[in-house]
Amino acid sequence: MENEESQGASRSEELCRRALNRTPGGVHSNVRLAGSREFIRSARGAWLYSVDGRDYVDYLLGQGPNFLGHAPGQVVEAVSDACRNGVIFGGQHELEVRAAELVCEAVGWADMIRFSMTGTEAVQAAFRLARAATGRTKVIRFEGHYHGWLDNVLLANRDGRWGPASNGQLAAHLDDFVLLPWNDLDEVAAALARDGEEIAAVVMEPIMINAGVIEPKPGFLQGVRRLCDDYGIVLIFDEVISGFRLGLDGAAGRYGVTPDLATYGKAIAGGFPVAALVGGEELMDLFGTGEVNHSGTFNSSVMATAAVVASVSSLIDDPPYERVAQHGKELMNGLQDIGAGYGLPLRVVGLPQAFHVSFGDAEVTDYRTLQQLDLARYEDLAGTLIDHGLWVAGRGVWYVSAAHGQKELDAALTRFDKALASWTS
Ligand code: PLP
Repeated sequence: MENEESQGASRSEELCRRALNRTPGGVHSNVRLAGSREFIRSARGAWLYSVDGRDYVDYLLGQGPNFLGHAPGQVVEAVSDACRNGVIFGGQHELEVRAAELVCEAVGWADMIRFSMTGTEAVQAAFRLARAATGRTKVIRFEGHYHGWLDNVLLANRDGRWGPASNGQLAAHLDDFVLLPWNDLDEVAAALARDGEEIAAVVMEPIMINAGVIEPKPGFLQGVRRLCDDYGIVLIFDEVISGFRLGLDGAAGRYGVTPDLATYGKAIAGGFPVAALVGGEELMDLFGTGEVNHSGTFNSSVMATAAVVASVSSLIDDPPYERVAQHGKELMNGLQDIGAGYGLPLRVVGLPQAFHVSFGDAEVTDYRTLQQLDLARYEDLAGTLIDHGLWVAGRGVWYVSAAHGQKELDAALTRFDKALASWTS
C-alpha cells in the first residue's frame, strides 16, 4: 500500500505540535531536525509504518543500526528474556563475558573490548587510551569524517573553512586535532614529518561513509598503517558504521589493514544502543590497571549485551552479507537506470551495503571533490522520495539490511520511479 491512507495526516501534525511544546525542535537528536516530521507507529523488517497509515521502505535504518531489519525476533526475544532477571547490577554478569568473547572472535584481530552506550563515547575512550599510551596529545583526523557530537570532534565547513559546528562549542577543544584531506598519503606523510613526535593517534572512518560513501584509495590505509608504525602512533579505525555491516571483520577485514584500536556501534546490536572499543591487550589493559579511566553507569547492561550476543550470533550463524550485497547491487543499478530514464545525471556509488546517491559526474575521492556534486539537488529529491514511501536521508546515504528482499526491491523501484515522475513534472 503506498501512502493512500493519508486522511489521518493530522495525527503526525498533532504529535509534532505537542513535541514542540516540550522538546526543543520537537526532536531528541539535532540530526533529526532535517528529517521528516511524520511520526512512526511501528517498524518491522525493512518497513516503517506511520501513525497516519503511511508505509515506507526503510533505507535509513535508524541511521544504520537496524542491519538485521527492525525488531529482529531473536534479538528482541533475547533482550526481553534476559531483562526479566534485571538490567543493570553495578557488578559483572555472564552475558557481558559472552558478548566480549563473541565480538573479539568475530572481529578477529582484537584481544579485548570495552562496551559503552554510544559511538561518541567509544571514540573518546580511544583518544584517551592513545594519549595515555603515547604520552602525546595531538590527533590527526580527516575532512568529512564524523566521530560524534562532542566539542573536540564536531566540525562544520562554512565557506570553505573548518571550525566548530555549534554555538557553545569550545573551539579550543579542536586545537589538539590536525585536520587533513582524506585519501592523500602525501598529506599524512608531510604532517607527520612536521609533527610526528607530537601525534598520539590517527583516526578515520576506514571507508568514509558519512560523507559520500567514499572508499579508501588502494594503498592509502596500508600507507597510513606504515606511517603510524614508523612514528609510534596509535591507528584508530572508527567502524561505528562499517563494523558488522561490511562483514564480521568490518572495513579492517575488507581492506586488509589492522588498526590498533577500533570503535563499533550501530550494526553490533540489532538496533539497541550499544557501542564498543576494541583493541590489542597491551593498549586495552591500561583500562584494566586503572591507569586510564573509562566509565559509564549503563555500560554492558543486560539489555546491551544480550542484544550484542543475539545479533552477532545471528550474523555468524546465518550470515546475511551475500543477500544484502545482492539487494544493494540490484537497487543501485535500478535507481541508476530509472534516473537515466528521466535524463537525470543521477550518481549511485559506494558499496551495496551502504551507498550514496547524488547528482553529477565528478571523480570523488574525498570531502573536497564530493562538493563538486550537486548535493543540494539530491536533498531536494529526498523530500519527494519520502513523500512517495521511501525513508531516506537527505545527505544521500542509503543503508541496506538483511530484511530487504525482492518485495522491498520491487516496491522501492516502483516508488522511486513515481517519485521521479512527480519531481520532474
Ligand atoms: N563515528 C561514526 C563513524 C559515526 O557515524 C557516528 C554516528 O553516526 C559516531 C561515531 C557517533 O556515534 P553515536 O551517534 O552512537 O554517538
